[in-house]
Amino acid sequence: MSAGAHGRHERPAGQEPIPLARPVLGAREEQAVLEVLRSGHLSLGPRVAEFERRFAARVGAAQASAVSSGTAGLHLALRAVGVGEGAEVITTPFSFVASANVAIYERARPVFVDIDPLTLNLDAEQAAAAVGARTAAILPVHVFGYPADIERLEQTGVPIVEDACEALGGAYADGSAVGSRGHPAVFAFYANKQITTGEGGIVISGDRAVKERIDSERNQGRAPNMDWLDHDRLGFNYRLSDIACALGIAQLERLDGLLAARARVASLYREALGDIRELTLPCEDSGRARRGWFVYVVQLPAGVDRDRAVTELGAHGIAAKPYFPAIHLMSYYRQEFGYRRGQFPVCEDVSDRSIAIPFYPQMGEGEVARVTQALLSVLGRARGSQVSLAARSR
Ligand SMILES: *Cc1c(COP(=O)(O)O)cnc(C)c1O
Repeated sequence: MSAGAHGRHERPAGQEPIPLARPVLGAREEQAVLEVLRSGHLSLGPRVAEFERRFAARVGAAQASAVSSGTAGLHLALRAVGVGEGAEVITTPFSFVASANVAIYERARPVFVDIDPLTLNLDAEQAAAAVGARTAAILPVHVFGYPADIERLEQTGVPIVEDACEALGGAYADGSAVGSRGHPAVFAFYANKQITTGEGGIVISGDRAVKERIDSERNQGRAPNMDWLDHDRLGFNYRLSDIACALGIAQLERLDGLLAARARVASLYREALGDIRELTLPCEDSGRARRGWFVYVVQLPAGVDRDRAVTELGAHGIAAKPYFPAIHLMSYYRQEFGYRRGQFPVCEDVSDRSIAIPFYPQMGEGEVARVTQALLSVLGRARGSQVSLAARSR
């Protein structure tokens, strides 16, 4: 739908649409990529190990393996903790679909438990109660960068694989960096994440054996000292190129600035939206836990047509997206596993009312104000009043 089709919603001339996300890339990134191109060593070269070393140091992990995506990393991490055919993996239905799909790759079954209504992370008590004879792993997701209750999950004694794909820069309740507890933890570098390599991911852990296995399985099952004609286990091509790793190194160098900018935009939003009582904003940090800001997701009040709100925000030039759709209600999951509406009521309620709004480091007060006005307008009309964007902005 074009904004021009709705006279009332026409944007003032010169106002660009505001996207959901936008990477920060500059001369350092260009130079780093160019150096790799000129070296001719595009893959299996020196940038891979360098990126791994620097990333591990940054998050306080002993080991790191760069891989082709966050999904690939989660897949290899589940294999590394022993998830296989017939096993169960306890996880959250409120996530990006990849965190559940990876169990299915290994013919294991994702077992969902409901989420905490405040943090939106899997409810650790319910996860502990769901542990059974077939449970091979718990896969918590640090949703929207807020750390899951990892200490409680550790008490179950079940192997843990952390989906930290949204949580770079976050800290657990004890103040230590997400990823630093020794479990395999996976970060991702798609263009909307805190840092990007275009596509990419990394698995960190405290265990040398996990790294050795993942390094082999990402490269067709070849041991490091083995001739390329022989492979001693099944593997994949989940490698990350030197071009991507060079980009990642340049992004890591500016990580502090990127995280600070995201936190600044989040506080601008809290200031601007805090008074709108209809909206539920992301929970604030509790104790020493810290959110690694990734997206800004607000919950609309019950009764507002969420999908229509997204369309109307689009007409104002503001990108927005339902975020997340519940995984167990996706057609594949309903058909394959028999999941149905009503099983995870907190997740379903939150998921029905949540939208991601524009959030990226370069956002300024002007953009935040435009998003705020558009949201007010959408909420006003949803309540039946005819307040227009123009009237609100005066
Ligand atoms: C981004 C993300 C992933 C990984 O995505 P890729 O596109 O495979 O890198 C996994 N889980 C969550 C929760 C994510 O947000």
